Amino acid sequence: MNPATDEFTIYTDTPETPYGLGIKYPTTIEAAEEGKLWVGTLGFGMLLFDPKTGMIDKEYAPDPDNLDAMSEGTVYDLAIDSSNSVWAATARGGLELLDPETDIFTHHFNDVDDDNSILSNTVHALFFDEKNNIIWTGTGGGLSGLEIATGKWLNYTKNDGLPSDTIMGIQPGEGNDLWISTSKGISRFERDSETFYNYFSQDGLQGDQFQIGTSHRGPNGEIFFGGSNGLTFFQPDELSNNTYLPPVVFTEFSLFNQPVPIGSKVLPRPIEKSTQITLNYHQNVFSIRFAALSYQLSSKNQYQYKLDGFEENWSPTQTSQEARYTNISPGIYTFRVRAANNDGVWNETPAELIIEILPPWWGTWWFRLIAFFVGVLLIWGIISLRIYRIKAINRDLEKRVNGRTKELQDAKDDLHQVNDELEKNLQEVNALQQKLKEQAIHDALTGLYNRHYLATILDVEIARAERRKDSIIFMLMDLDHFKNINDTYGHAGGDKALKAVGDLMRSQTRSSDFPFRYGGEEFMIIMPETSLEDAFKRAEEFRIALSSIKLEHEGCAFQVKTSIGVAAYPLHGKNFEEMLLVVDDALYQAKHLGRDRVVLYGTEDSSP
Ligand code: GH3
Ligand code: MG
Ligand code: MG
Repeated sequence: MNPATDEFTIYTDTPETPYGLGIKYPTTIEAAEEGKLWVGTLGFGMLLFDPKTGMIDKEYAPDPDNLDAMSEGTVYDLAIDSSNSVWAATARGGLELLDPETDIFTHHFNDVDDDNSILSNTVHALFFDEKNNIIWTGTGGGLSGLEIATGKWLNYTKNDGLPSDTIMGIQPGEGNDLWISTSKGISRFERDSETFYNYFSQDGLQGDQFQIGTSHRGPNGEIFFGGSNGLTFFQPDELSNNTYLPPVVFTEFSLFNQPVPIGSKVLPRPIEKSTQITLNYHQNVFSIRFAALSYQLSSKNQYQYKLDGFEENWSPTQTSQEARYTNISPGIYTFRVRAANNDGVWNETPAELIIEILPPWWGTWWFRLIAFFVGVLLIWGIISLRIYRIKAINRDLEKRVNGRTKELQDAKDDLHQVNDELEKNLQEVNALQQKLKEQAIHDALTGLYNRHYLATILDVEIARAERRKDSIIFMLMDLDHFKNINDTYGHAGGDKALKAVGDLMRSQTRSSDFPFRYGGEEFMIIMPETSLEDAFKRAEEFRIALSSIKLEHEGCAFQVKTSIGVAAYPLHGKNFEEMLLVVDDALYQAKHLGRDRVVLYGTEDSSP
């Protein structure tokens, strides 16, 4: 048709054009070079037709003997790629590629064993995506795109979101989008996200069934798809998404995979009118069904849910309308579910259902509280008992310590007493010893030192005199004719006289002198540090003093006289024994010379 004149030209077989299109059943046309046309036919292969002559230039038909020939005579669609090669969609022969230079066909068949092959040998529609250099094929088994440069097939089926695997037409949309008509609605394939957005009769299409060879993209981008009930066309950029935000309702609650009947203890009211469900701790396998109130393509509604208190994040997006939980611990949870409509618009306000799982009796707060107090009481009891025992032990210990202390105190007191007695005894013993000592060295009658003590005194005095180069005087006396006194005045009279001599000796001697009773009526005076002259003088004084004492016995007065020998150590003897001999010798001399006189040893000096 010439749009300018509205006139038609009919290309058919005439005598002038014997090789026309008359009986070829053309199905599809693409522009060829030099104003010619590529024509696909129903059963007659592919033709290169020249409208100027009205005749077919070239005819490409299947030839079983020629592998380079077309594989199949029925062509549903044609596409010309950037290298001017011609792609042909065939009814049962897969995708054919003609190189016009060589007239050789390359075949692309489905291979069930090879994922990298076209989805089906029945190819209904073609679209050459020049930008990406892909030839897209709509097949009876899904959408197949061949990356021409790599030979890689991009295959999509219902499993990827297509509404049907029978593709009828393909047209380019916005960006990389493809619009696809199928035997069950049309689909917008968002290539960038590999997502199919499907539309059906309820979206306003002519119907769900679309037909082969009926798709077209107009010069302004509008897209046409023909179907069994008419034509659907639209401007892709004017299509608006479904903005309805679908509310969600709960439709069923199941315990252990059994729906809970309404009116039961768990579900007294219908689930869609319930705000809370209370379960026992053992009822912990439950599932909730829900539905979005969006009846526009409700199968495309999507859901996300989560059990607040149990999980943090929303579940993955799903079309399934059920959430299932097992082994949830006692606690209070909020189940939330939200839905997106067929266009993926989410209602951010979720439906909510509070689910409380009661703890078992041993998990309740009151049981724990009681258990806590019982525990505290028990611990307190144990501690108290322990303290009581320790106190009792302490008391016992204290008692024993006190008893022992008292015993010790008593013993100490006893000891003191014993000690005092001992002390007293000791003192007595000491006194006795002293007395004995005194007695041992004294003469009982006169009180003078006795003869035994003489050796002791002399040992000391001789040693001292030697040290000092001093002399010791020995003065020995013997009373004259004492037998006569005894005979005349009796023994008692004699003793009286002996006593008197003792008294005189004590009064006549100096503190440094030692007066002794030497034996019977013999006396000795040891005079340290005394000269011979002095000693002689004192002996003489003693003799005179004695003779002047008037004694009396039983009314009779009498006198005693004495002879005295004097010797000096070390002048007259070099030791104690020699001194006794020499002084005795002097005394003997005094007796011999007539008694009542003093004789100095070794001299004839005597007194009177
Ligand atoms: P002479 O002048 O030679 O010494 O004569 P004498 O009588 O004193 O002789 P002699 O010295 O031998 O005698 C000592 C006498 O002294 C003998 C004894 O009876 C007496 N006599 C000795 N000891 C005691 C005494 O303790 N008491 C009394 N009454 N007489 C004593
Ligand atoms: Mg004598
Ligand atoms: Mg005598």
